[in-house]
Amino acid sequence: MIKAGRIERTKTVLVVDDQEINRDFLEAILEEQYAILFAENGQEALEVMTAHREELSVIMLDLMMPVMNGFEVLQRVREDEELQKIPIIVLTAEREAELRALQAGAADFITKPFDEIEVILARVGRIIEMSEGRKLISAAERDPLSGLYSRNFYLEYVSRLFRYHPELHLDAVVLNIEQFHSVNALHGREFGDEVLRVIGSEVRAFLAETEGIAGRMDGDRFGIFCRKQADYAQVLKRFQQKLNERFPDVNIHLRMGVCPWGENADPVTMTDRARSANSMVRRNYKNPLKIFDAEMQRRELLHQRLLNDLNRALEEKQITVFYQPKYDIQSTPPRLSSAEALVRWQHPELGMISPGVFVPLFEGNGLIGLIDNYVWAEAARQVARWREQFGFALPVSVNLSRSDMLDLHLEERLVRLIEENGLEYGDIKLEVTESAYTDNAQMVLDVIRRLRDIGFEIEMDDFGSGYSSLNMLSEMPIDVLKLDMKFISNIAVSETARRLVLLMLDIARYLRVRVVAEGVENGEQLQILRDSGCELVQGYYFSRPVPPQAFEELIRKELQTERTEGK
Ligand code: C2E
Ligand code: CA
Ligand code: CA
Repeated sequence: MIKAGRIERTKTVLVVDDQEINRDFLEAILEEQYAILFAENGQEALEVMTAHREELSVIMLDLMMPVMNGFEVLQRVREDEELQKIPIIVLTAEREAELRALQAGAADFITKPFDEIEVILARVGRIIEMSEGRKLISAAERDPLSGLYSRNFYLEYVSRLFRYHPELHLDAVVLNIEQFHSVNALHGREFGDEVLRVIGSEVRAFLAETEGIAGRMDGDRFGIFCRKQADYAQVLKRFQQKLNERFPDVNIHLRMGVCPWGENADPVTMTDRARSANSMVRRNYKNPLKIFDAEMQRRELLHQRLLNDLNRALEEKQITVFYQPKYDIQSTPPRLSSAEALVRWQHPELGMISPGVFVPLFEGNGLIGLIDNYVWAEAARQVARWREQFGFALPVSVNLSRSDMLDLHLEERLVRLIEENGLEYGDIKLEVTESAYTDNAQMVLDVIRRLRDIGFEIEMDDFGSGYSSLNMLSEMPIDVLKLDMKFISNIAVSETARRLVLLMLDIARYLRVRVVAEGVENGEQLQILRDSGCELVQGYYFSRPVPPQAFEELIRKELQTERTEGK
């Protein structure tokens, strides 16, 4: 008779242990559910495995045995393409051996003296289910909201799935919600939870139709491994439509990144790639799907290369600083008023690499701090050198990254640079991009306020590209607004652009801060800005960022003009 809910004894377990008492114990607890084979040492185990490879569901392997120990068995199994598909649970009394066994390819371990019977049964059951690519439900492994695997179990199970079923060729998908925090903020957490629930159930419905496994990785991020789909746009559409149906009055937008299966791909790398594909379509409401492609792979390689090469680049001075002048355009002729320090990487093999490539990369992992500190130090030394050379200090602005704000020694570092070079606080200005303010407003504000209180001038960079409200702006510690380049680029051709710039100049006047217009490339733009009352300008019209020697020419020219004027 088959008891309800019980598995038929169609699965076979091989128990390998030299001690009879252990074999008996395992037999006693397993025999109700499984057919059992025995072996007393590694040698015998290999023979049984080879003979019964088709029927074996799992092997329970003692590590300490005469003739051939468990590690050797693991090793042999790993070398055999057929045998390595059978999962092995090792039986061991030592923590350290557990780890070694897992590294050697064991699927799981059971501790001696033996765990509780329930634990052993659960582990054996789970390993079998896993190796068969099926899912087993247990509270700890499930995310209660979505009903999918929780993060750790998801990744763990996926890697086992890859190990035991390399023939499945699953694609990685990462799905998440655009601006989920705003959804939560606007409609409440409970609503947000409901959204996650709906997505979870639709993902499960999807997996029921194809093969695969899914988990909630964190927050609103879902991971899926599934059989290759003909059209991922359709898959995304189905999830999106479900949300539209369930929440017709709320705009919730999903986005999706996919990494197709490929030779040698491991699930962790695939997940990373699906994730970076996903983040490439952030806020891209028109086209919220991205599939990892050759171009992304090239960039990934470049990134790895740059990460590798950074330390050496700093040591060998491949990282250098260029300077771009800022001119006061309300005086005639325009007067050189200060400069911005801009980092450059002269790579011995890759040539000149733009900060547009490596700054975002190193911002992602905090390494930008190394570069920034280097640039700040270099800029401070440069100001001191020029003062020596020309008899006056030309202020230089340096860029601060978001992650610099997290540096507990930021203030101390900057102060030291001023002191070491005998500068005034006004000689080094700090540019902080607008989005850094809005990302983590309070903390950033505190840091910047302190720096400003000491005496540093603060410039808000890329103003107009972020989302600060007028209200927030009036609270922010700023001395200068740098208008984002995109506003300047078409003021000569677009009336709207012109009006926007006027509006921003008004805002600046209201806030009592000065304005730098960035990206001024031609005389027409310059004229419009001058007529609108904009004071400072930076752009190719005057000069591109140039190395210090070339910048000195600009200083000399300036001194020349002053002398002529003064006559
Ligand atoms: P940013 O701070 O907004 O710097 C201005 C960028 O605009 C510079 O690009 C500059 O070369 C470019 N630019 C200036 N005038 C014109 C113009 O008239 N037309 C056009 N088309 N472009 C103009 P660059 O040097 O490639 O730097 C790009 C970004 O990299 C910077 O934007 C800044 O965000 C970042 N960056 C540069 N140096 C550093 C650094 O030392 N530390 C950090 N954290 N970021 C840096
Ligand atoms: Ca800047
Ligand atoms: Ca800027």
